[in-house]
Amino acid sequence: MNGQLGCILIVDDAPTNLFVLSKLLTSAGYEVIQSSGGLEAIALAQSHQPTLILLDIMMPNMDGYEVCRRLRSMPETAHIPVIFLSALDAPFDKIQAFHSGAADYVTKPFQTEEVMARVHLQIELRLARKRQEQINVELEKRVDERTQLLELAHSQMVDLAQSDRLTRLPNRPSFLRRLGKVMAQSQTDPRVSFAVLFLDCDRFKRINDSLGYRIGDQLLKGIARRLSTFEQKHAEVDMVARFGGDEFGILLLDIADKTDVVDFTEKVSRILSRPFLLAGHHIFSTISIGMVWGDRSYVSAEHLLRDADVAMYQAKARMHRKYCWFEPGMHHLAVKLLNLETGMRLALQRREFELHYQPIIDLERMKIVGFEALVRWQHPVEGLILPNEFIPFAEETGFIVELGAQILEMACTHVADWERAGVVDDELTISVNIAPEQLLQPSILNHVQHCLDSTGICAQRLRLELTERSLIGDHELVDDILQALKQQNIRLSIDDFGTGYSALGYLHQLPVDCLKVDRLFVKSITDDPGSLGIVPLIISMAKTMNMEVVAEGIENITQLDQLRKLGCQYGQGYLFHKAVAADRVADLLSAPISSWLGESD
Ligand code: C2E
Ligand code: MG
Ligand code: MG
Repeated sequence: MNGQLGCILIVDDAPTNLFVLSKLLTSAGYEVIQSSGGLEAIALAQSHQPTLILLDIMMPNMDGYEVCRRLRSMPETAHIPVIFLSALDAPFDKIQAFHSGAADYVTKPFQTEEVMARVHLQIELRLARKRQEQINVELEKRVDERTQLLELAHSQMVDLAQSDRLTRLPNRPSFLRRLGKVMAQSQTDPRVSFAVLFLDCDRFKRINDSLGYRIGDQLLKGIARRLSTFEQKHAEVDMVARFGGDEFGILLLDIADKTDVVDFTEKVSRILSRPFLLAGHHIFSTISIGMVWGDRSYVSAEHLLRDADVAMYQAKARMHRKYCWFEPGMHHLAVKLLNLETGMRLALQRREFELHYQPIIDLERMKIVGFEALVRWQHPVEGLILPNEFIPFAEETGFIVELGAQILEMACTHVADWERAGVVDDELTISVNIAPEQLLQPSILNHVQHCLDSTGICAQRLRLELTERSLIGDHELVDDILQALKQQNIRLSIDDFGTGYSALGYLHQLPVDCLKVDRLFVKSITDDPGSLGIVPLIISMAKTMNMEVVAEGIENITQLDQLRKLGCQYGQGYLFHKAVAADRVADLLSAPISSWLGESD
């Protein structure tokens, strides 16, 4: 118990006082130290740090006032409360005592109760002050911690405000800010050259819809990662950002000329066209890219980005080489494209889409063995619109599903008409192009069967031309659909073979009857045997797998001769005939091929 309440230093030159006070305080539970002189008291206060000092005023050598002043002047003792004990009782003495820094004053001869009461009070005050100090320290600590948390939250918020949550890439506002700075620099320094690429993932909606948002998100992250790696390897890439959805932007800085930008764009397309392996699926994504050259005439970053967006829209409308420079006339076109979907829907109702038929020839017998149905849009104002101008959009928006259904119905109806008119023999088949989106529709099997039943044509008449894009993605699903179509006795071809990503190892497992060699490969064929490229390979591969081969785009006799020599069985192309309207099919079938070879208009 002794000393637990605190330590009290008693300073008095009268030994009796020291003795009495010491006894009193010790028995009250205080630890006591004693001193009979001022200098010694100061030293003890410094070394022992008492809780309280009882200090006599009248002492030889140094009086209590001086001792108190000195204690107050030293930081290690300034806070220790001092109660003066003195026989001096005039108000002046008391005032002087308080001036010198006393906390309280007790007159001698003292009442023990009064001494104890004042001592307790001071000790409690001191303890309360200590507690308060502790609380303050604690509070300050908490405030510090809170401040740190707030600062952290603030920096995270700034971070979030500037970057995209999913990919951690800078977001559109950050990109615009940075672009604005670069534009300002280029205004004052003509050496600053820059360009902006606007990227958009083709058919992203389809991936999201068919495989789910999680895979869609993973694809976006995958794209972001590849673009970031690209950024690290190319000093010219100043910033890669995600604008939201499936849109990304790249800012290129210090580039020599437009050719450099095109080189970059092609590289970006290449790295993004490699498949992404996501949750066991190989996902292929093609990207459409709009390009804008940093022109000093732009007044705002928003305008520049808007033009890059417009150019991207144009690129999207292309079948191949899906990148495009912005050109001033494009705004008008962009509006046109925006209206395209509405226009297409109306056209479907008004039955403005029609099918033209291009003959497919048996190259050995020089006989028409089939027709490929190719859609055209007979627009009331614009005239005849070719599929390259609207099919990519129809695929992008999903409209192709309805359009494709109408096309299949029309083709079957035409064949039924020709059968009734007696112009077609049993051998003749009709090839209908099926877009990937259309193939994956759950209703596809029923719809095909419905078309056959309602027109009364037999399944062997029908060939479906699938693009290589249809075969990537979910292999099992595609395989199931193809097997079911096969069971319906429908023949299947792979269109534009060699331009896509068909995994050759997977090809032989598919129930496909025919490969159509893309006209790109046929085009390069000349008299020179070295010009044959991969055509011989495709033909011999098809034969090994028991598939037929159709060469597309035969335009001259040389190509025809070479293809025949290679053993290619079938062909189509302008050399024979362009696609004709349905009512001209009978004419083509009735005359020998030699009579119209090369005459098509
Ligand atoms: P595709 O299925 O490969 O059709 C062949 C394209 O090559 C046709 O173009 C045809 O007119 C053209 N062509 C044929 N012979 C020659 C030739 O000797 N030289 C040249 N330069 N071209 C030739 P078209 O009709 O403009 O169709 C383009 C593409 O649009 C088609 O390529 C196909 O992918 C798509 N398409 C056409 N009709 C439909 C359709 O009904 N549904 C779907 N989903 N896509 C279609
Ligand atoms: Mg085709
Ligand atoms: Mg083709």
